[in-house]
Amino acid sequence: MGKKARICLFCMLFLCGCVRYEVKQNSDPIHEYGESAADIGKGEHYHYYIHSIHCEIEAINDKSEQLVKQLKKDFIKEAKQAENAELTIDWKSYLKEERYISILYQVETRFDDTSKTTYHAIHYDLKQSDFFDLEDVFGESGFAKIAQLSREQLRNRYPEQSDSLAFSIGSETLPQNFACFVLKKDQLKLYFDQDMLYPFAVQVCLGYEMIDETMEKETVQTIVPYDDVLNEPLRLIDPDKPMVAITFDDGPLPRYTGAILDVLQEEQACATFFILGSRANLAPELLQRMILEGSEIGNHTYSHKQLTTLSRSAIEEEITRSQAALQAITGKAPKLLRPPYGSHNDVVDACMSENDLLYAGWSVDTQDWKLRDAQQITSRVLKEVRDGDIILMHDMYPSTVEALKAILSQLKEEGYQFVTVSELLQYREVPLPHG
Ligand SMILES: [Zn+2]
Repeated sequence: MGKKARICLFCMLFLCGCVRYEVKQNSDPIHEYGESAADIGKGEHYHYYIHSIHCEIEAINDKSEQLVKQLKKDFIKEAKQAENAELTIDWKSYLKEERYISILYQVETRFDDTSKTTYHAIHYDLKQSDFFDLEDVFGESGFAKIAQLSREQLRNRYPEQSDSLAFSIGSETLPQNFACFVLKKDQLKLYFDQDMLYPFAVQVCLGYEMIDETMEKETVQTIVPYDDVLNEPLRLIDPDKPMVAITFDDGPLPRYTGAILDVLQEEQACATFFILGSRANLAPELLQRMILEGSEIGNHTYSHKQLTTLSRSAIEEEITRSQAALQAITGKAPKLLRPPYGSHNDVVDACMSENDLLYAGWSVDTQDWKLRDAQQITSRVLKEVRDGDIILMHDMYPSTVEALKAILSQLKEEGYQFVTVSELLQYREVPLPHG
């Protein structure tokens, strides 16, 4: 073999060894692969709001379309017997080792007062150009181990409810019992529908190292979907020690919002960010970071109009449009509304309660927008602050970032705990609304 041929062969082998199956990974941590297609509609007694995956692999599109079509058909049929029915379908997708695509469909149905959530999954192996299940990836013994680990984890979590017949049938080592899973970068997550094992839905997470040591564990992005961190106890709060909630309005302004998150992270503190819906998409990754790092996001309306000057329908729109924008990014609807200028009236209050929102005022106004001086802002806060205060700032100025550093370290020394507004509302009297 000539030298040239040898080099060619070597190159070919090398390329084969590290071949990656050309797919574009999105930066969105819960839609790592594919685009979203929407189907929204209504009938006499029902409406549906469907998002499904659309991608360059036809086999996935076909399977997904079939699934969604069937779900919609079943829903419409059942909806005829209800006065008011609703179907919401949404999806997530994960890409592992640039090879395994997992798509999870979350399906919520409501017939009058009865709601139910179910999950469906589609798995595609780019190397084999075919669908896969757990056995295909982990082998027979790996699959048996997954089933066993899942049962153990669930028995530990729900010892009393795991003696049932439903549990033993539903958790038996059979592929159909473990068909609803996703391969994330660092772990396998399994979903069990309501009434399958228990009267409620459950999820199990298994690190790959528990199943198969050879399984590649990829570094996880710093951005984690909201629902994965939301249920974690983020910090221990001692109700007998003083606490404050620091808040930032009108963001995100990527430059300053990012710097503020850095300071909060350094000081292991948190804050509540009242975001404008119209600006939310400027920095979705920062919004996700807020949640991941234990801060809270509140609604500050869509476009910062003084709500008390608007008609009822315009108020509604300001609130719900922002709510939807924030939910689309973080996966959850905010629980707090801070109306611009703090101004509200009976109509605003009614719209808030219709949207399950609590009013979030403040009790210490730093006037950082006017002062623009870190030292003045700091001394103003330190002079006024008391246990249970909500401090108003804006993530819009370099002086605010500077002041935050000083405020956090000084308050920490004085024994203050930093909490989100929602946490503060659990332990302290609500400060009187302004405006
Ligand atoms: Zn504002």
